[in-house]
Amino acid sequence: MRIWTSRAIGRHPFVSGVSGVITATVLAGFTFLALYDSREDELRHAVENARNLVTLISRDLGRTINLYDMSLRGVVLDAERPETWTLSPYLRERVLFDRGLGSPISGDAYVLDAQGRVKASKSGNLYPGLSFAARDYFRVQQNNPLADLYFSNPFHSQVRNGAFAVALSRRIDLPDGTFDGIAMVSIRIEYFEHLLDNVDLGPHGGGFIVLDNGTLLASRPPSRGGVGSSYASTPNFADIAGHESGSFISDGSLDGVARMYTYAHVPGTPIIVGIAPAVEDVLAEWRHRNLLAGVMTTLFGGAYVAAAWLFAFALRDKTRAEAELQRVAATDALTGLANRRAFDHRLAQEWRRAQREQTPLSLLFMDIDHFKRFNDTYGHATGDEVLAVVAERIQSGTRRAEDLAARYGGEEFAVVLPNTSLEGAAKVAEKIRKRVESAGLAHEGSERGQVTISIGCASCQPPDAGGGAALLAAADAQLYAAKAAGRNRVMWQTAAMQDPA
Ligand code: GH3
Ligand code: MG
Ligand code: MG
Repeated sequence: MRIWTSRAIGRHPFVSGVSGVITATVLAGFTFLALYDSREDELRHAVENARNLVTLISRDLGRTINLYDMSLRGVVLDAERPETWTLSPYLRERVLFDRGLGSPISGDAYVLDAQGRVKASKSGNLYPGLSFAARDYFRVQQNNPLADLYFSNPFHSQVRNGAFAVALSRRIDLPDGTFDGIAMVSIRIEYFEHLLDNVDLGPHGGGFIVLDNGTLLASRPPSRGGVGSSYASTPNFADIAGHESGSFISDGSLDGVARMYTYAHVPGTPIIVGIAPAVEDVLAEWRHRNLLAGVMTTLFGGAYVAAAWLFAFALRDKTRAEAELQRVAATDALTGLANRRAFDHRLAQEWRRAQREQTPLSLLFMDIDHFKRFNDTYGHATGDEVLAVVAERIQSGTRRAEDLAARYGGEEFAVVLPNTSLEGAAKVAEKIRKRVESAGLAHEGSERGQVTISIGCASCQPPDAGGGAALLAAADAQLYAAKAAGRNRVMWQTAAMQDPA
C-alpha cells in the first residue's frame, strides 16, 4: 500500500506538491483570518475606548456648565432684587457672585446693564468706558425676552489681553419684563484644551470640542484654523451635527492621518465632543503583537510547501530510477531488444492471456545463417555490429505495439506475436527475412554471399496445453527444418501439441 502510494505520487509529483500548497494555504488562510479578525477587534476596541473618553469629557463639561448655570440663575435672581443694588459694592459682590463662580477655569463673572456696561463683577473691576453690547452673549439676551442660558461663540477677551474665552449668559428683566442687562460668566478656552490634554489620545490621535454651529473651541492636535474657526463646511460635520452621537473613519484628508472619530453632543449644551484615535496607532500595537505570528505562518507555510515539492520530486526521481533499472534489467545491451528473461516472462503472460481470451498466439524463432563462419571471417566485433543491424531489422519488421522482439541468446532471436494466426505470423516472418536479406551485409562464407536468417514459425489457436515452452520448442523445430531445407527461409507448421491426434 505504502509502495503503491509512493509510486502513484512519484508518477504525479504535482499531486504531492499541489496538496502541500493547498494544505499550507488553507492553514495560513485560517491563521490570517484569525489575525484579521483580531485586527477588527482592535479597531472596535479603540472605538469603544474613544466612546468612553467622550462620555468622560462630556460628563465633565455637562457638570461644569450646569454648575455655572445654577450660579447664573442665582445672580439673575439677586440682580433683579432692587435691594441688592442698595448694598455697598463689597457686600453686593459677595451676594451676587459667591456661588461657585470662583473656579480657576472661569474668567470673571459680571452683571451688565441694559447698555452692556459692567454694573458689577466678581473681581470688583467695573471697566468704566467699556461696553459689551456688541457681543453675541449680550445681544441674544437683549433681543429675546424668552432666551434661556446662552452659550457664546469664542471671542477675544477685552479684559484679558485678547485671550480666547466663551461666555454663558442669562437675561435680567425689570419687574415689567423689559430688558435690564445680563448675568454672565466667561470661561477660559484653556479649560476645553485641558479636557483634551487630560486624555490619552495616542501619538497620532486627535480630539475636538466644537459648538453645534461648527465653531471650534479646542482641538488636538491644534488645528490650522485655530480656536473660533468654522468646521461647518467640513465633509463630516453635517453628519456630526445631525446625530446625537456616532462614529466614522476619516481618511486623513485634513492632515494625512486616518482616524476613527467617535463623537457625542453634551446634553443640554450646544457642545460636541469628539475623540479620534489614529488607525495607525491602533494597528501599530496590533501589528507589533501579531507580526511574529504572521512571519512564522509565512515561513512555516513556505517551508511546508518547499518540503512537499522536494518530497514529490525526490519520489519522482526515485520512481524514474527504478523504472530505468527495470528497463535495463530487461534489455539486451548489444541490440537494445528485450533479453531472454523479459521474453520468457512476456511469453508466459501472453500464453495465459491467449488462453483466457481464446485468441491465437504465434511465435517466431530465428537464427543467423553461418554466423560462426562470419565471425571467423570478419572477426567477433564485426559480428556484433551485424547482430545489432539484424536486431534493428527484426524490430522494425514487427508493427503492432504488443509484438515483442527479443534477443534470445547468441545470434538467435525470437518474436512473440499475440493475437496473430499462423498465416499472419508467417507473413511477418517472411517480411523480417527479406528485411535482413535486403540489408545487404556481405558474408563471404555463406553460399548467398550475404547475411541471411532462417525463421521457424509456430502458432496455436487458441493455446490449450503445454505452455510457452512448448510453443517455443515447436518454433525451434521449424527453424531446424528451415536450416535443413537450405537456410534463408521461413518454415511453419501448426504446433504439434495443438493437435494431440
Ligand atoms: P547455422 O547456419 O547452422 O546457424 O550456422 P552457425 O555458424 O550460425 O551455427 P551456430 O548457430 O551453431 O553458431 C553460432 C555462432 O554464433 C557461434 C558464435 O561464433 C556466434 N555467436 C554467438 N553469439 C555471438 C555474439 O554475441 N557475438 C558474435 N560476434 N558472435 C556470436
Ligand atoms: Mg545458433
Ligand atoms: Mg546460426
